[in-house]
Amino acid sequence: MRTSEIHRRWLDFFEKKQHEVVPSASLVSNDPSILFTIAGMVPFIPYIVGTEKAPYDRAVSVQKCIRTNDIENVGRTTRHGTFFQMAGNFSFGDYFKQGAIDFSWELLTSSQDDGGFGLDPARLWITLWEQDEESYQHLTEVIGLDPARIVQLPWEESCWDTGQPGPAGSTGEWHYDRGPEYGPDAMGGRQDEWPGSAEAEDRYIEIWNLVFDQFLRGEGKGKDYPLLGELEQKSIDTGMGVERLAYILQDKQNMYEIDQVFGVIEKAQELSGRVYGADGEDDVRLRIVGDHVRSALMLVADGVRPGNEGRGYVLRRLIRRAVRSMRLLGYAEPSMPALLPVSKEAMVESYPGLEADFTRISDIVYAEEEAFRRTLVTGTAIFDQVAGAVKQEGGRSVAGPDAFRLHDTYGFPIDLTLEMAQEVGLTVDEEGFRAAMSEQRERARADAASKKGGHTDTAVYNRLLGERGEAVPFVGYTESTLATTVE
Ligand code: ATP
Ligand code: MG
Ligand code: MG
Ligand code: MG
Repeated sequence: MRTSEIHRRWLDFFEKKQHEVVPSASLVSNDPSILFTIAGMVPFIPYIVGTEKAPYDRAVSVQKCIRTNDIENVGRTTRHGTFFQMAGNFSFGDYFKQGAIDFSWELLTSSQDDGGFGLDPARLWITLWEQDEESYQHLTEVIGLDPARIVQLPWEESCWDTGQPGPAGSTGEWHYDRGPEYGPDAMGGRQDEWPGSAEAEDRYIEIWNLVFDQFLRGEGKGKDYPLLGELEQKSIDTGMGVERLAYILQDKQNMYEIDQVFGVIEKAQELSGRVYGADGEDDVRLRIVGDHVRSALMLVADGVRPGNEGRGYVLRRLIRRAVRSMRLLGYAEPSMPALLPVSKEAMVESYPGLEADFTRISDIVYAEEEAFRRTLVTGTAIFDQVAGAVKQEGGRSVAGPDAFRLHDTYGFPIDLTLEMAQEVGLTVDEEGFRAAMSEQRERARADAASKKGGHTDTAVYNRLLGERGEAVPFVGYTESTLATTVE
């Protein structure tokens, strides 16, 4: 089943169940506290927290999402994209747990001829809060789910909240068992280890997260807060990973092999002469290319332009990381003109607007690749000088101010400097780099203050540098992972 067909079936199914079909909001969230739309519920937050009255009781959407916090997972797990589509159904004071469970069960397990997804019911598992009697009973007595496939978790591992006093609820997460060839069996006493090891996560794929918004929570740290009673208006908020279901239904190993992504990987193979499946590290690079090219396409389509701050910086990193991955695959020519049109072709059925907008989108992406190529030429020469000098003096580390100069003058992202240093057996004084960065930030702040205004969104940089009091640990790179220090 094509990914666009999953998308369409989702909307059709819930529309028939009296849900208002709400088009995907932009990837550019209008919530100032987040850079991007990270979940299907984001556009509905006011209805869920109760600051606005919902204009409908039931809604359905397939929301475009970007999650930069998953960037380091891309190509390494089977199931994390930076761009993905989260299908959701929502109830604002209308149906609750039983209704949400019934809909999800019906859609997942009814046959494809009947408009469903036709999953084998015996492969479905669900996690629940251990005190959620209602869902447990409904699942075992009405749905007939084998209790051995219900995993009961403490509140901390099964709850949803916004991080502050307000609505909170327990969740139910549907998982699909891909079978023993993908990892150890969770039956027979392993339930208490759920979600368990990385291998278990590869076998039991989380596909659909149901949130039962039931309680009012009070003040507290982390997950340690009192539940103050039931909400007046209970809500249902769900999110199903379209790409995850796609790779299950398309019988693929991971989400990068689905119809909406794999074409780019095939083109990258053709350009580079590397063969997907022949080498683990190359495979990761190819998947990064497939993922990042698509994310760049969708971000530019939603109005983001490459830049040094905020959203623009995320986009810049995605494009540059894709270009750099192509170079690591041995292809040093411009690659976006070959790759981006393939991604557009794969996405246009679900997003027809891409066609008319493609000239604008591709101009932006190709220009960014060109800019990066120029940066690489100058920056690499400077880096080689610096690294050569360090080695000559018997040093092991690139000094912070040098890394900063590469960043500030030559546009070298710190992750690139880290990566190149690692390739020649050096480290980078990241602390010194951070110090130079914050000095510069201070200067910029003082400048901006004296000029009144000039506010820039430095959120990504702050996160890049591990601000908010704690430094992000540097966990070490291989050539193809860049992301451990970002978000
Ligand atoms: P995981 O534990 O696998 O990282 P999650 O619990 O962070 O997933 P949710 O926030 O519950 O994910 O999002 C709802 C659904 O969206 C998930 O059940 C999954 O199917 C899908 N999803 C989440 N993150 C991604 C991603 N980075 N790429 C593709 N699909 C995703
Ligand atoms: Mg996650
Ligand atoms: Mg999860
Ligand atoms: Mg989840």
